Order: sequence, then C-alpha cells, then structure tokens
Amino acid sequence: MKVEPNKVVSFHYRASDKGEEVDSSHARGEPLLVLIGHGSIIPGLEKALIGHVAGDRLEVSVAPAEAYGEHRPGWTQRVPKKYFQQPERLRPGSVTTLNSRESGPRTVVVLKVGSSVIDVDFNHPLAGRTLDFEVEITDVRDATPEEIAHRHAHGPQGH
Ligand SMILES: [Zn+2]
Repeated sequence: MKVEPNKVVSFHYRASDKGEEVDSSHARGEPLLVLIGHGSIIPGLEKALIGHVAGDRLEVSVAPAEAYGEHRPGWTQRVPKKYFQQPERLRPGSVTTLNSRESGPRTVVVLKVGSSVIDVDFNHPLAGRTLDFEVEITDVRDATPEEIAHRHAHGPQGH
C-alpha cells in the first residue's frame, strides 16, 4: 500500500541541520504516526513520503519554506499570561504552545517573563533552517472514518 492522502503512515525519522540532530523519533522509541493530507507534518516531508511503501528508507532535504518557515527578525509580541498553559513554568528560552483564537495553537519561544505578560518570538525554533531527514517507513494503512473526521491519526490504544 502506497502513502497517499487519507492513509496513516508510521515512520521513524531523524532530522538534522548541518549534521546536528534537531529532532528524532528514535529518542521517543515509537515511530511517528501521521494522517496524510491534513497538514499534520511539514509540507516538504509529507511530499517526500507520498508514493512510498512500508520498508522504504528515504533521505530528503527540506528548505525552510517547506519546513518551519523563514526566520522573520523582530516577529515578537507581548502576550498576557492567561493565553499560556502553566505560565509559571516558563523561562527565557522555553519553547511552548500559545493558543490564540485567531490562528490556533502555535509554537513560540519565550524571550522574557513579566508579572502579567510574556514576550515571545513567533518564529518556530526551527524556522530558517534547512532540515535533512532520514526516514524509515514502518507501516502504511487506511485511515478510519473517525481519524479522517478528526483530521489526525489515532494510536494503537485508540484516541
Ligand atoms: Zn481523534
């Protein structure tokens, strides 16, 4: 079975930038499980997976525009603490998720923590980086109607 939209693909991956590992499924032990065609992963990686089958290994280099975007200098904002989960745990350099009603959840980097507000950088920590992926596909299956309705893959234990 080939990887295509509305299939669920399981794969191990290692992402590196100029030889420095920045992300890996091996650290977690479990392959990543992704519903294809619903924007679950960066576009460049999804495109590279299309047409492959279980057992395939591939290497792909993904430019920022197809990964986490170009780095935009000065793309920072002061945000009330109520928009963060567990703001008391945040420190400069922390990577966290900001839930905004307009744009949904997004990954931000904390610059400064005040008493009622937090300054964040909206650039994804991997913005501006060309990422080299090594991928090993371990499984491809049809998505269930429930997964397609939810627009994400469900693990072996269900939802
Ligand atoms: Zn679900």
